[in-house]
Amino acid sequence: MWNDGDVTGTDHEAARPSSSGAPALDLTDRDLADDGRPGEECGVFAVYAPGAKVGHLCYLGIFALQHRGQESAGIATSDGHHLTVVKDMGLVSSVFDDNKLVALDGQMGIGHTRYSTTGSSAWMNSQPVYRDVSHTQFALAHNGNLTNTVALAEEAGMLPGLANSDTEVMAELLSMHLHRNPQCVGHELEGALTAVLPSMKGAFSLVLTDAHRIVGVRDPNGFRPLCLGRLDGGWVLASESPALDVVGAHFVREIDPGEMVIIDQDGVRSVRPFPEERVDPKLCLFEFVYFARPDSTLYGRNVHLARVRMGEQLAQQAPVDADLVMGVPESGLPAAEGYARHSGIPFGAGLVKNRYIGRTFIAPTQDMRAMAVRMKLNPLRENIAGKRLIVVDDSIVRGTTTRAMVQMLREAGATEVHLRVSSPPYRWPCFYGMDTGSRSELLAANMEVSEIRDYLGVDTLSYLALDRLIQSTGAPTAGYCTACLTGDYPVEIPVDVSTTITLSTERETGHVATPELPLEPAPAAPRSSS
Ligand code: SF4
Repeated sequence: MWNDGDVTGTDHEAARPSSSGAPALDLTDRDLADDGRPGEECGVFAVYAPGAKVGHLCYLGIFALQHRGQESAGIATSDGHHLTVVKDMGLVSSVFDDNKLVALDGQMGIGHTRYSTTGSSAWMNSQPVYRDVSHTQFALAHNGNLTNTVALAEEAGMLPGLANSDTEVMAELLSMHLHRNPQCVGHELEGALTAVLPSMKGAFSLVLTDAHRIVGVRDPNGFRPLCLGRLDGGWVLASESPALDVVGAHFVREIDPGEMVIIDQDGVRSVRPFPEERVDPKLCLFEFVYFARPDSTLYGRNVHLARVRMGEQLAQQAPVDADLVMGVPESGLPAAEGYARHSGIPFGAGLVKNRYIGRTFIAPTQDMRAMAVRMKLNPLRENIAGKRLIVVDDSIVRGTTTRAMVQMLREAGATEVHLRVSSPPYRWPCFYGMDTGSRSELLAANMEVSEIRDYLGVDTLSYLALDRLIQSTGAPTAGYCTACLTGDYPVEIPVDVSTTITLSTERETGHVATPELPLEPAPAAPRSSS
């Protein structure tokens, strides 16, 4: 474990390291693809709106959630008799066109966008997952990551290697229950969910549809967000509130941790399928820091304003004399604004981000990788030459992109670079649906803050203390998961994270294992697909 005081107290005095002595950049494609930040693991959306163009509404909803996943997109709709599913690899806008959306007619539907780790980029992992069993068709979409997938796969009788994802295992368990209990006519899906959900552990915000209803489920810890909106003549469920805005729905409330809502012709019904003792709110703190859209509402608080407050707290905690406060676009900008406001130091742009760059590209050599960073971020020389900069970013995970950026700023004439990070050091891997890489890949898991400062080539470095971060959310008494910062995992993980879990080989070969899946010795673990 670590100590906030150490992190923030000693690093302001550091002598400026020599940039000429810095080792060569060792950027990976992964750093380039995601700015070195952890990747989000999916967005889910559902709509019940008889008479409306539900396929188009689903399209708009998942389009608004594109930031949560860019690998694949899918929509399933129901016309009251049959389900139609369209899904494919790629961005929402490239998967769907007018012809496909016209075919997705009906009264209700669900949608999904998926984030990928390198080795799991495959059509078979795209969602929604569809099943047709005992006269019940259903489709399922998932955001999060189960931590007991192997045990559940065994329970479902799936042979090792047969399940491609935790979502498939869920679908299999539901199918098994439907097959064995065909008597619950009219409420088959609800019955199966009530029976199966309590056995699931980890992070899962789910949306489902059968022929007659949509269903939303949030795990007992509420790791991933899910909210309810009211549409003229219907209802909407979405990972984040901006997806409600875009379809013209108004925000009603967040789904509670441990709650299941069933939406059909009779309206919205709430069910609590989990034992009460398991309900313990632990929303992912990084939804506030980085993952969620700034216009989202979490725990009733606006995310953008929370990020501005993080910057204000950072200025209070780690002041330094400088000429300009700049944020790392886009996600570091609100905290930079807050830092500037509190410190009174002018706020300005120091880096320009190319808005049109895609997430996925392969740069074959280190030289080209360095160029690829410039494809994304280019320094604004006129603003930074001869200046002492305070650079604000929201997080540092692997650090390689940050290091390249600092080098660029110095080459562009910055006389000092003081890095301020609006979250504590990221030291532990996430098992609840974020793609962070293994512990061995996390910069702060392997270095002290002073070593990180030297590695990044900055004059001073400070991370926001955890208590200040939680205060900044505006909902400090609500429950949060902080496992990647503290190593305190709210739901048991089936691995010893103090041992090294190396994923680089798997990434290179494009073969099995994600960081968020339990790496158990046998049988082969199904992958997360959400
Ligand atoms: Fe979020 Fe970190 Fe918890 Fe994962 S471990 S859910 S990234 S706070």
